[in-house]
Order: sequence, then structure tokens, then C-alpha cells
Amino acid sequence: MFETTYRFLRFPGGKARAFTTSYDDGVGADLRLMELMRQYGIRGTFNLNYHVVSDEDIDVAEKPTYRLSRRQLATYYQDFEIAIHGATHPFYRDLPTASAVYDIVRDREGLEGMFGRIIRGHAFANGSYKRETLEALRLSGIIYARTVGSTGGFVLPEDFLEFHPTCHHRDPRLSSLLDTFLAPARYAVYPRLFSLWGHAYEFETDGNWSLIEEVFKRVGGREEVYYGGMEEIVSYCLAYRQLVFSMDSKRIHNPTATPIWIATDRTETESICIAPGETVVMDER
Ligand SMILES: [Zn+2]
Repeated sequence: MFETTYRFLRFPGGKARAFTTSYDDGVGADLRLMELMRQYGIRGTFNLNYHVVSDEDIDVAEKPTYRLSRRQLATYYQDFEIAIHGATHPFYRDLPTASAVYDIVRDREGLEGMFGRIIRGHAFANGSYKRETLEALRLSGIIYARTVGSTGGFVLPEDFLEFHPTCHHRDPRLSSLLDTFLAPARYAVYPRLFSLWGHAYEFETDGNWSLIEEVFKRVGGREEVYYGGMEEIVSYCLAYRQLVFSMDSKRIHNPTATPIWIATDRTETESICIAPGETVVMDER
């Protein structure tokens, strides 16, 4: 089915590649990661636990591996996309489903109130879930949930409630995956999404802040790459999936409120934007 394949998807601006990060737990070291993200033009998502916070503000320089206070979370993360990560950071696989629902709802309600925005993303605490968890998330208004199962690839998920990321920053394949991600594409170009995940406190405990700075230096500030938060990218893909096609697939209608870019030939660069409510007619596909 044409509308369920991502073959013709192009990210905003007509770009065939997107890069995003997903970092967990809301610790002091996130602030240094945010600085690097700003410096290199990287965008991504921070996954927070509403009920696992420090009671009082922490000294970030002294205790970078500690959880921030709610006041600090509300202050420091305003410029960044937020997702829920389980109000109490539980193993959903081992919880009664009703308890998981309660945890999801409390986290979403708490963080939405704290930030004054709608939050529709999730990252599984401890990477733990079972089949019922996916339904609990869906019924709680969550549109994607990031797992800890690295794919080593750049394919967009069919089911965003089991969003397997490309890799963890400790993955020994990281450098070669970046090579592949950034390599020129030649023929029948599918969109590529690089989703990197981890915990910023690991850069402290492993003593390797230079690793993530090198990654951002290589991948950041590129004309051919789109940088966005995970929920933003998933929302865009879901809008793409709502495109309506004529029988011969030459007439395409965008019924959404989102401008949507699609590829118009086999190369990476040729694309058009279909405005909200617009119908375009393609000469040949
Ligand atoms: Zn966590």
C-alpha cells in the first residue's frame, strides 16, 4: 500500500535524512548535553520521571549524575522536547497493567502541568514492557514509545509504540553507522532516521564527553539533515501517512494541518511540498 510505505517520505524542507536524540532520567549532566546540542544544532528529546526527582535543587557541577529537582526540570528543559519515562521509573513488564496505566497517566499529567504543553512521547524505563503496555500507552494518548533495542539501521518504524532506536551512544557500531547515515545516496532513496539514545550521566561515569561532542560535530549543521525531537518527527510521519491518493497515485491530497514533503524522483534532492488542504497532480511516478 502506497500510503503505508515511507518510500516517498521526505522530512521538512524536503530532506531525506533526520537525526534525533533521546536521553533519559533528567539528571544534572543533561545540562552539559543541552549545551552541546545547542552548539552543534542538534535537537532531541529528554525523557523525565515526574515522581523520581530530587527534593531540593542539586548542584549540577558537583553532582552531575543526580536527579534534578522539579523546579530545575521546569527551568532547564523549556527549550527542549520532553517525553514521559514512567512516573516512578518502573518495570512495566512486571506491573499489573492497571498499575502501568496509573503510572503512565500520572507522569503525563504531571509533566504536562509542569511544562504547560501537550506531551505524547514515551521512553520505556529499563526498556521494560509487555504487549498490554503498548495498548495502555495508546489509550493514554501516547503516539510513540522508544525501546532500548538498537536496530543498527535508519528505517522508520511501522508501529511507533515500539520505536526501536538506531543505537546507544556506547554501541561499538556508532562511528560506522554515522558513516553510513551520512554517505551519499544514489538510487530509490528511502528516508533515513538516525535515533541515538542513552543517559547523559554515562558521559560522566565513563569519562567520555568527547565521544558525544565528536558525534554532534560530525552530524550537526548539515544542509541535508533535518534535526527534530522524536515526537515532532513521529507526528510528521503520522501526518504523511494520512495523505490521500487517487487510484493511479498521481493525484495526492494533504488533509492535515502539516505541510508534507514527498520525493518526486529516485534521487535524494527532488521533492515537493504539499500544503495543508492542497491537492497536487504528479506528472509521472
Ligand atoms: Zn531511565
